[in-house]
Amino acid sequence: MAVRTVLGLVTTVVALAIAGCRVLYLYRMATAGQPAEPERTIGGAARTLGSVVRAEVAEGLVQRRLLQWTVPGLARLAAFAIIRWRNTPQTLGRRSRFFGSHLDAAWLVLFMIFNVVSTLLLYRGAQIDTGYVRFERGAYASDAVARVLAPPGRDANTVIEHVGVLLAIGVVFGFLVLVVHSKHLHIFTAPLDVAFARRRSDAAGAQGVPGALGALQPVYSGGRPVDFEDPGEDDLLGRGTIADFTWKGVLDLLSCTECGRCQSQCPAWNTGKPLSPKLLVMGLRDHALARAPYALAADDQARAALPEAVRAEGARPLVGAPDADEAERAVVPFDVLWSCTTCGACVNQCPVDIEHLDHIVGMRRYQTLVEGAFPAEAEVMLRNLEHAGDPWGRGASARAEWMTGLAFEVPVFGANGEERPPDDVEYLFWVGCAGVLDDKAQNDKAQNTSRAVATLVHRAGVRYRVLGAGDLGRPDQIFAPPREVLGAVPGTRVVEMARSGERSFCCGAGGARMWMDETIGERINTHRAREALDLTPDLVAAACPFCIVMLTDGVRAVDAENGADAAADPSVEVTDIAEVLLRACAPAVPHTLEGTAR
Ligand code: SF4
Ligand code: SF4
Repeated sequence: MAVRTVLGLVTTVVALAIAGCRVLYLYRMATAGQPAEPERTIGGAARTLGSVVRAEVAEGLVQRRLLQWTVPGLARLAAFAIIRWRNTPQTLGRRSRFFGSHLDAAWLVLFMIFNVVSTLLLYRGAQIDTGYVRFERGAYASDAVARVLAPPGRDANTVIEHVGVLLAIGVVFGFLVLVVHSKHLHIFTAPLDVAFARRRSDAAGAQGVPGALGALQPVYSGGRPVDFEDPGEDDLLGRGTIADFTWKGVLDLLSCTECGRCQSQCPAWNTGKPLSPKLLVMGLRDHALARAPYALAADDQARAALPEAVRAEGARPLVGAPDADEAERAVVPFDVLWSCTTCGACVNQCPVDIEHLDHIVGMRRYQTLVEGAFPAEAEVMLRNLEHAGDPWGRGASARAEWMTGLAFEVPVFGANGEERPPDDVEYLFWVGCAGVLDDKAQNDKAQNTSRAVATLVHRAGVRYRVLGAGDLGRPDQIFAPPREVLGAVPGTRVVEMARSGERSFCCGAGGARMWMDETIGERINTHRAREALDLTPDLVAAACPFCIVMLTDGVRAVDAENGADAAADPSVEVTDIAEVLLRACAPAVPHTLEGTAR
């Protein structure tokens, strides 16, 4: 017994020391970068101790996002291994959500879990045979093992018990050391990541919605928003190296389970682009870990003494230039970074609240503001933004043109210098940019949406003010109201697309992709239009001027594939639900509707 105790203690102390050193090293690595934003703290925006506990219960214990995927979610609870087997990249290739994941390491962990259970059963069975423990009832597995071990007798079982206990200690602590040195670190980091995720309220006031799905963060430097009127000389504009990530950013990277839910929903990945949010996070994580000795070295002399591979990692660019050689060396190739439509599907699907969008936008900001490196097609749009304040370069004076021809006056908030709307105003109508400026697109389709909304609100007698399209769907968690509007229009039969609601598919315009050619893979708008046309609708309805422009283009592209003249009208009209409703209010205009786009 004394030998067992000594061996057990030594194993415990050594394993805890190794694991402790690793945890300390990871802590130093994570905190070597930028401080996190102040809203991470409890008490920040829409963030209370209660909301953190609710998030931990929902994401950690109940696994809310896994259960959103009813069939695979329940199946995971029943048998994770079956999902792995069915989604094997060997047969599905890129279509597998585990494509690029470290599957061998996952099997090793399953093997270690098997060892934890088997060594426990081994010594428990032996303990029953030696009379050391007795279970009144219920220990059916240990009792079964005890029956198998009984024939050699009590002395043999005493030895088996000693060996079994030491094996169990060795396996448990070996598992601990393995976990903190492997991607399975997420077992410990994921709950922290959920706790420190940005949170906000949704449009209905419900708290705890992922903040990374909402408005973009300001540009932070040193934990403070950058004052662009008077920026500091040392202000950091975005993320240029892995050292510019905050500790929460690094915690994100260390928390990825490689489950691939984000990858399976990503419109870029699904249309053949090189961007997979999972592979992006894994690549950043591997880089952060490989570069850590370089980042933590005391001085240049210590850095110079590091192995060649570590120094090379230290010098490796975070984002690649458009030329192929550089892109091959970079952690994030140029086309990976710029394929993102900022649709938020990855953030929405991630079971551990990784904030992909913050990282992608942070890297794009650095590339644009500091390096001046962005896709050539974006140049005109960026110049227009800089000089005219809108992507079309039409300027503030053009923002009222869409109202021309309306049979009523549209009250514009701020037109006379007002600082706040009058008290009797019930709603502010935010018209955005495409809805007022894109007069060239698809026969004024975008502007027609704004006119239709204003006309409807006017007819309803609601007091409003025009302010300037808000995002529905994922960011605001508004899915039912547009469908209720369509469902209430007489003569319509609303048909949902396979990917809809929280798992909707981007139109391809987000992330400024509206103004950039898609030269890699299938065009996202064509892919989405094809999904809509597969339902053979009479009309496709959306709730965003950008979606309408993109989907109309997409329908034309599918028509062209089917031999239609490029100049012909699209075979199926794409329009805003406001226009559908307006037509319903004007009985002279007949309409039928079968299909919704989002
Ligand atoms: S935001 Fe959308 S396009 Fe960008 S990585 Fe995430 S899922 Fe892909
Ligand atoms: S980023 Fe999130 S959703 Fe994507 S693979 Fe990692 S854990 Fe899964």
